[in-house]
Amino acid sequence: MLHGARDIVEARVEVIRAAIVDLPYRLAGDIEGHVTSSGGLAFYRPGDTALSMLGRADVALYDAKENGRNRIERDRVGVATSVRNGKAARVSSRAAGFDGLLDAAEIALRDNLESALRENQFTLHFQPLANIAHDEVTSSEALIRWHSPVRGRVLPIEFILFAERIGLMPALGDWILIAACREAATWLGRLIVSVNLSSEQLRLPDLLARVDAALAETCLPARRLELETTETAMIEDAAAARMTLEALRARGIKIALDDFDTGCSSLSFLRTLPFDRVKIDRSFIQDLDIKPEASVIMRAIVEMSRNLGAAVTAEDVETDEQIALLRACGCFELQGYRISRPCAAADLQGWIAAFDASHRPQVALRAMAETHAA
Ligand code: C2E
Ligand code: CA
Ligand code: CA
Repeated sequence: MLHGARDIVEARVEVIRAAIVDLPYRLAGDIEGHVTSSGGLAFYRPGDTALSMLGRADVALYDAKENGRNRIERDRVGVATSVRNGKAARVSSRAAGFDGLLDAAEIALRDNLESALRENQFTLHFQPLANIAHDEVTSSEALIRWHSPVRGRVLPIEFILFAERIGLMPALGDWILIAACREAATWLGRLIVSVNLSSEQLRLPDLLARVDAALAETCLPARRLELETTETAMIEDAAAARMTLEALRARGIKIALDDFDTGCSSLSFLRTLPFDRVKIDRSFIQDLDIKPEASVIMRAIVEMSRNLGAAVTAEDVETDEQIALLRACGCFELQGYRISRPCAAADLQGWIAAFDASHRPQVALRAMAETHAA
């Protein structure tokens, strides 16, 4: 298409956009509302099909929303759309460093991931979190495992970000959520299941509906679900993240701030957003027996979190020295290889029973105290 013709198309679309925005809408009663309108434009390139053009227009629409909404964006060179199974799959350029085009190895990984989802190749492992002050296991974190028939074992860090890049995370995230809730619904007692939310999932406009559906389908009470999110997931739009987290908490779901380090932004998130738990990152735990100032900071975080109503969990605890130092800092909720490695769902209840047995006197005393109190 000639450049002049493109300009005419763009001008026409802008007229439509402006008309939608100018119109006031009358809502319930006398309330007047205005809407914003975003659009994406794709122009024909040799080799295009209708579906590939629709896909590129969709990517441009995404860009318009990310660039502040209420605007039209053109598709950009270097943003690819693959047409597979008769469906246009969006490949967005949002992930850092992504130039939008998949190389041959990435196309193969994408194909393998799509088959993995269709063919149920994923499983979940669970890593318990123990409170060493009360000698009890309070929750278990679901961690995805992929054993591919062609690749062997693939680590989550090798495919989670990539799944986000190719737009597979909503579907994979739903699978994780439902599988984790279904497993937790079979657990005895009040044990909570903790599920990692990817950045992409937190930004999904229908995340709440997806979580509600997972709970309804599996009959897991909302109070037995915890969702872990990270600073990275919230940094782009903290106001939107706050609304989502508050809506989740209003349902009784617990929210954990994962990978917490002592950077300024982590501290500011902790102060301003509603969390039930803060999980202190491995890098910080490893500093405890090397840098004396790390204990001072740890004590301050424990104190501050407690005042804000959030529990503190130390992640990736590997040694008895770390446990002693954490205890001295007032941090009693621990997760890591020294407590337990992530284990298959079938082994979790056995592990918890063995943990209870090795702490039997304390567990029995607590049970008696609870019976008397009831
Ligand atoms: P994460 O959420 O911080 O999970 C903790 C990771 O540390 C897990 O690795 C766990 O196996 C490992 N770990 C636990 N204790 C220790 C320890 O004492 N020492 C050491 N060195 N490592 C320990 P994993 O399962 O490979 O997961 C890595 C990351 O991948 C996770 O970090 C999380 O960001 C992501 N991930 C894993 N499963 C899921 C999932 O179901 N959904 C999403 N969105 N992300 C996931
Ligand atoms: Ca986590
Ligand atoms: Ca973590």
